[in-house]
Amino acid sequence: MKILSNESLKNYTTVKIGGYAEKLYFPESIEELSDLINQLSEEDYYIISGGSNILINDKKTYKNVVSLIKMDNSVMELGDGKFYVGASVKLQKLINIINKKGFGGIEYLFSVPALVGGSVAMNAGRGKVHGLSISDYIEEVRVLDKGVIKVLSKEECNFKYRDSIFKKNNNKLIVLGVTFTFDKGYPEELKKIRQERINISQSNQDASGYNFGSVFRKHNRVIMQVIRITHPGYKTGMSFSKKSSNWLINQGEGTYSQAISLITRVEKLHKVIGQKIIREVIIWK
Ligand SMILES: Cc1cc2nc3c(=O)[nH]c(=O)nc-3n(C[C@H](O)[C@H](O)[C@H](O)COP(=O)(O)OP(=O)(O)OC[C@H]3O[C@@H](n4cnc5c(N)ncnc54)[C@H](O)[C@@H]3O)c2cc1C
Repeated sequence: MKILSNESLKNYTTVKIGGYAEKLYFPESIEELSDLINQLSEEDYYIISGGSNILINDKKTYKNVVSLIKMDNSVMELGDGKFYVGASVKLQKLINIINKKGFGGIEYLFSVPALVGGSVAMNAGRGKVHGLSISDYIEEVRVLDKGVIKVLSKEECNFKYRDSIFKKNNNKLIVLGVTFTFDKGYPEELKKIRQERINISQSNQDASGYNFGSVFRKHNRVIMQVIRITHPGYKTGMSFSKKSSNWLINQGEGTYSQAISLITRVEKLHKVIGQKIIREVIIWK
């Protein structure tokens, strides 16, 4: 297993912010991951996959960080639209494979720079009004629970909007692989849907800087606009996007404390006005 020492975590996140890992591990199999987790003490490690919904404190050094990008990149076809997919598989790769075989359903995730494991933990999906999430197609999830491999039914995973049991376990329940059953479709039509998704994300999503997608999973749009106008953020650092209202953009010199100050401002204003706000991005304090 590759292990890097004193490695900056910045380049393992899409927002390009992060402190250091004393040890950054890249297990290359479930066995390696399991052995590693057994060695590390309970409180002592963090899990990262695509790093596309994480804000990491850039003033901190984390003792042990486990990257799952190399753990299991396999996609196994089981028949009738059923696939077993390793947690390290990129969403784009998965969608391309199933579409070519005449199955689909999650093409709206084609623009999401995430791995299957992270997407299942976050229950990635389309905006709330669309009511679509990756869990729609999940049958069961293979997990590592304190070093023991188990299979959880979809119900046991407690999927809700951008939420699952995996977010509540402080990284102690790790997604190893997922069994999906996808819808039947025609490869040519699925290709068109993928292209539509690319077009939507190119016209609606802010690609002017580094980001981690949505900051909040529940918020008030008007309040966000007020904040954006009254506190535009940091010119060469972090600011709320004009194009994607719930996104923070890093123009290159963004820091953890800039991001936190903007997030806190939004949360405080919601509380003062009595509006509900729920954060989506995972923060490593
Ligand atoms: C450009 C862009 C577009 C985006 N669009 C969308 C969108 O359309 N819909 C959407 O829902 N999200 C979107 N996101 C946010 C993000 O991609 C999703 O939340 C995604 O599910 C995160 O997956 P990841 O692999 O990057 O996980 P990470 O960011 O690496 O991790 C997220 C959390 O999951 C935990 N985790 C990671 N892997 C595992 C595992 N195997 N087992 C248990 N826990 C694990 C981590 O510890 C962390 O707490 C977008 C982000 C970007 C940058």
